[in-house]
Amino acid sequence: MAAKRDYYDILGVSRNASAEEIKKAYRRTAIKYHPDKNPGDKEAEEKFKEAAEAYEVLSDPEKRARYDRFGHQGVNGGFSGGGFNVEDIFSQFGDILNNSPFEDFFGRSSGRRTTRRKGTNLRIKLKLTLQEIANGTEKKVKVRRQVACKSCNGTGAKNANSFVNCTTCNGSGQVRQVVHTMLGQMISTSTCPACNGEGKIISERCSSCGGDGTVSEEEVISIKIPAGVEDGMQLQMSGKGNFPPRGGVPGDLLVVVEEEEDPVLKREGINIHYDLHVSFVDAALGTSVEVPTIDGKAKIDIAPGTQSGKILRLRGKGIKELNGYTTGDQLVHINIWTPKNLTREERALLEKLRDSPNFKPNPDKAEKSFFERMKEYFQ
Ligand SMILES: [Zn+2]
Ligand SMILES: [Zn+2]
Repeated sequence: MAAKRDYYDILGVSRNASAEEIKKAYRRTAIKYHPDKNPGDKEAEEKFKEAAEAYEVLSDPEKRARYDRFGHQGVNGGFSGGGFNVEDIFSQFGDILNNSPFEDFFGRSSGRRTTRRKGTNLRIKLKLTLQEIANGTEKKVKVRRQVACKSCNGTGAKNANSFVNCTTCNGSGQVRQVVHTMLGQMISTSTCPACNGEGKIISERCSSCGGDGTVSEEEVISIKIPAGVEDGMQLQMSGKGNFPPRGGVPGDLLVVVEEEEDPVLKREGINIHYDLHVSFVDAALGTSVEVPTIDGKAKIDIAPGTQSGKILRLRGKGIKELNGYTTGDQLVHINIWTPKNLTREERALLEKLRDSPNFKPNPDKAEKSFFERMKEYFQ
């Protein structure tokens, strides 16, 4: 798949463009590359689709916010099924295309656009563990959705003869209206509300679905989760939403990621933080300990004379960057454990060490302060 262009670049607007500016820019771009104006020009068609996709995201405040935060991944989820075709654009962007100068410009009848209705989207939440997020995973989920009725093929009619011409529009699918405006009379054409632009209505309904053309069905859907997703991110699976009544294209399944908090490993972007407590005896004498990581345990050496607050880095033990090539690290924060309770015997041993010269704190330049370490790791 070719790298996607930035949506703002496609429409030629700045990242803080207003909704009105985006709408204007889309209209300008869409008119320029409209298939009617560029017959047979594949490149123009691609540009037309690209602009429609950019507009779909940038015109929706929620999608735009996600795009700003997560890029293409935030709105497409890396699923490949999100391709637009020209028919979809006409059905989805009716608000821009219908009843606008655009309509008059091309003199296109609106009937065509309503022939491919889109069903509603479904939204589910998906809980993922840190392990699943780190490496990516595939999840099977049960989803109840409206699917096309098999008895009537989604038409809602008993059989092919169960249709009659719509009387409201006489079968044309459109109704004309004379509108009086300041500039005089204008004739406006709109989709027939009685037949939804189909020109036909059902005379005898399908008995399986009662005429809806859809039935509710439980389906197990396999969802591929790319590594590195974040809590609140939304993945879009095209065509896995509800089928619309009486024919059309299904909506999308929107999968909202919920990251389950790990009891010991704390995620920060692509890095993992882990707090390790060692006794001051181990810190003074040195030892080897096992620490939990995202994929099992890792052995680390605590050097003799290790100070509290030291951070050990386990390279590549973090989370894979979403759509990137980098993998984060696990940062092990050393905390020296001070005993809270002492037996008489332990107390006596420690009393003997109290005045021992090597037990007097004597930090040198190499013992960086907490703030210097923070600077070093998080710059
Ligand atoms: Zn049916
Ligand atoms: Zn009609």
